[in-house]
Amino acid sequence: MELPFEDLSIKEKIIELTQKLHHHNHLYYVESNPEISDFEFDTLLKELQELENLYPQYADENSPTKRVGGDITKKFEVVEHIYPMMSLSNSYSKEEIADWETRIKKLIVDEPEYVCELKYDGVAIGIKYKNGKFNQAVTRGDGSKGEDISANVKTIKTIPLVLRGNYPEDFEIRGEIFYPLKAFQDLNNQRQEAGEELFANPRNTASGTLKMQDSAIVAQRGLDCFLYGIYGNNLPFQNHFESVKAAGEWGLKIPSLKKNYIKKCASIDGIMEFINYWDTERNNLPFEIDGVVIKVNNYNQQAELGFTAKSPRWAVAYKFKAERVRTILETITYQVGRTGAITPVANLKPVLLAGTTVKRASLHNADQIEKLDIRINDEVFVEKGGEIIPKIVGVVISKRTSNSEPLEYITKCPECETPLVRKEGEAHHYCPNQLACPPQVKGKMIHFISRKAMDIEGLGEETIEQLFEAGLIKTIPDLYELTSEQLLPLERMAQKSVDNLLKGLEQSKNVPFERVLFALGIRFVGETVAKKLAKEFKNIEGLQKATFEELIAVDEIGDRIAESLVAYFSDENSLVLLKRLIEKGLQFEVIEVENNNLSDKLEGKAFVISGVFEKHSRDDYKKMIEENGGKNVSSVSSKTNYLLAGDNMGPSKKVKAEKLGITIISEDEFLEMIS
Ligand SMILES: [Zn+2]
Repeated sequence: MELPFEDLSIKEKIIELTQKLHHHNHLYYVESNPEISDFEFDTLLKELQELENLYPQYADENSPTKRVGGDITKKFEVVEHIYPMMSLSNSYSKEEIADWETRIKKLIVDEPEYVCELKYDGVAIGIKYKNGKFNQAVTRGDGSKGEDISANVKTIKTIPLVLRGNYPEDFEIRGEIFYPLKAFQDLNNQRQEAGEELFANPRNTASGTLKMQDSAIVAQRGLDCFLYGIYGNNLPFQNHFESVKAAGEWGLKIPSLKKNYIKKCASIDGIMEFINYWDTERNNLPFEIDGVVIKVNNYNQQAELGFTAKSPRWAVAYKFKAERVRTILETITYQVGRTGAITPVANLKPVLLAGTTVKRASLHNADQIEKLDIRINDEVFVEKGGEIIPKIVGVVISKRTSNSEPLEYITKCPECETPLVRKEGEAHHYCPNQLACPPQVKGKMIHFISRKAMDIEGLGEETIEQLFEAGLIKTIPDLYELTSEQLLPLERMAQKSVDNLLKGLEQSKNVPFERVLFALGIRFVGETVAKKLAKEFKNIEGLQKATFEELIAVDEIGDRIAESLVAYFSDENSLVLLKRLIEKGLQFEVIEVENNNLSDKLEGKAFVISGVFEKHSRDDYKKMIEENGGKNVSSVSSKTNYLLAGDNMGPSKKVKAEKLGITIISEDEFLEMIS
């Protein structure tokens, strides 16, 4: 039974936690200056989540727990914009920008002042705040109406759910949501590991992500934003620049003034300087921009200038030319990936592009080649976008010789000659010979031993190549049958490295089931999916017996993953492989631990681990700390108790720890503490 006074104290606790988390979220994501560790943050968040589950009546709709998503939007509501979301007139030449500036000076009475900004290559968004709280986020749409994607936008951690300071009661702020390049690359790496198609570029991926129905997936994607355009009645500013600075004070993520993402300029010279600077510097930004925007700063002058039918007269966009060069396509090679996917790669006559010499370009797949009608010896246009590898965007048809013939896509695997297959709806061709096609076999082993999978010490990609070439390993279980007699005669194999390798293999028998499952390299079974499956089915027999229906009944397991699993377990060869691995003693079931804590010797102590260790891995030490009641924090602060230091520790950490008087301990000393 709940007594009323208890409820009130819980309500207060929820409010307190909510405020605390909003505060730390701002410090972490907007100011990049955290005061507490990730662990402490997660603990507070968990506490709040638990209270909200028990007392949903007190949960705020803008609670920090909304960041993890979970709201499903079946259909995005169409919303009318209060202030039309116009696009800017674009220009590709500096002369046009100079003309625009001359025109402005003639049209207004007083000397104008300008604000130059970066033109972020993302998705335009308008976010309404009412009484300091996130109210609604709407896409540009057709400019007069857009879609309400609030549930998804709320998961973006750099967008505050509550504001701070002296904000207007009711306003809208506009800006751009984008995919940082690092997050985009990470996403594609994950997809590659899971054998999924890669996304083509950050902008389209950002836009696709924002339109997903499940906000929990959006929450994991790492989208970011810059906000800079304020709209509302009776705003307390005279000009644009001040309004942006004020928005920063309310906790909104504005473009960095320090890094020159936004700058006031008095004249055309300043504008040109800004354009020229970013035309080269943009290659070093952690996100993509496609130009620069120039605005008249003063609101009265903006009003004086007004609008054309399509865009404001007081602003203009200068678009950078995509860096594009011409060169000759010499040959095409076909790469076979771990999953058997064939990727065509164009070998080009070397050419300079965006500061680097380019010799190869991605062609993605057969459709792409067909669409562009790319042929050998063609002169082609190559561009560098958000992707790391440049791509071919077109062919100079006029330069083509009369004897040129359309390219015929390969029908057999370039490595093992097996006829390729292409499933309906899939862009890539596949070599189905999973068990004997060398790059697939090697690729699967390399995946198996990789850090996030079995993480086998003393065994790297090169050694796998070497063992494979020497005929010592044909399938994964062969690894566990290697002997020092076999290994010692090999090049670069001394007794010590052989011992390490064998020890590493032996230790990998303790790697938990979820990672073993991921290590098997079943198509579409990435790290997260493997975790889900392990948790749900507990052991390999359970998973193997699961029907398609039982599989898709699991949260986040879709048709594609289920089909892939069913196919895997109905393949005789996989069963032989599994049987052998089980015999070798690898973990094929979840080991449930009732109470993880071995002791409370480290109760309340915060540890930072840095450097390389001899006796155990870093992850092992992290576990030991937790198992003995301590906690792991990622950076050294006054709240850290111990710095567990290995070899090659970063010097800055050491200096900081010494300055703060934190005890630095070696691994032996640590082991002593918990012994
Ligand atoms: Zn093959």
